[in-house]
Amino acid sequence: MSEKSFIRKDNTYLLYLYDLARAHKFPHAVILQCSDEKFCEEIALKIAENSLCTGKTKPCGECSNCVKMKNGFHPDVNVIDSHGAGTSIKIEDIRFIRDDAHIVSNEGGYKFYIIKKSQFMTLQAQNAFIKILEEPPEKVIFILLCESDTGLLDTVKSRSQIFRFDKDLSFDEKPLHTELAEKLALSASEKDICGIMEYTSKIPNDRKLFKSILESLISQILSMYSCGNFDKVDRKSFLMNIEEIRDLLKLVDKNVNFNLLVCYLCACLQF
Ligand SMILES: [Zn+2]
Repeated sequence: MSEKSFIRKDNTYLLYLYDLARAHKFPHAVILQCSDEKFCEEIALKIAENSLCTGKTKPCGECSNCVKMKNGFHPDVNVIDSHGAGTSIKIEDIRFIRDDAHIVSNEGGYKFYIIKKSQFMTLQAQNAFIKILEEPPEKVIFILLCESDTGLLDTVKSRSQIFRFDKDLSFDEKPLHTELAEKLALSASEKDICGIMEYTSKIPNDRKLFKSILESLISQILSMYSCGNFDKVDRKSFLMNIEEIRDLLKLVDKNVNFNLLVCYLCACLQF
């Protein structure tokens, strides 16, 4: 597997987490492990932002939740840090979380507890935390950040989903429509039917977003064509496929079943 395709896979992985948050299907406890603490915290905040946003295309950056996140303070997003260098998260911190987690959120959505340097939680703190995980309050998500999970008890790890990240594989996050359009264009140029099916299945049922994906996809494919990526496809059938995607664009606003539109796109991408 080339390095480039690994980066792509990693991007998808992060997008998958954000998708889960948007769909309110995020696991109630996750451990994010990364050697870069700041990067790890950014991911956690992005997850919270995607979950709390009330806009149509999440995160919209404009709704009151997004604005609060941007300003660095959201009443339902709690970042718990140890109280200074060389100290660790103590049982008092976990007791605070336990009591606070049972109070309904300010905005009526999910509440997040992002625990920094979780690998340095004291043993007592971890044992208290396990009790919360055994009977997690509703609409509460715990995100444990750590550089390495070796300091965490197996009982904590077994009750959480663990995601590991490598900062060097990070990416400048692109809007969802650009990200999907790029992946679809690449899959089409490589005649990768599985890729085409995988990424079309990720298209959310949102007509406005679908149109943005199609527009971005046409320009992506045309620029890849000019770079020689579609050199095995004859010019006439290449242009026919592009025309079909343009026709599809016109159909999006008509009363056509959304799944049919996506299936049609699948067919258009087989050059
Ligand atoms: Zn928003």
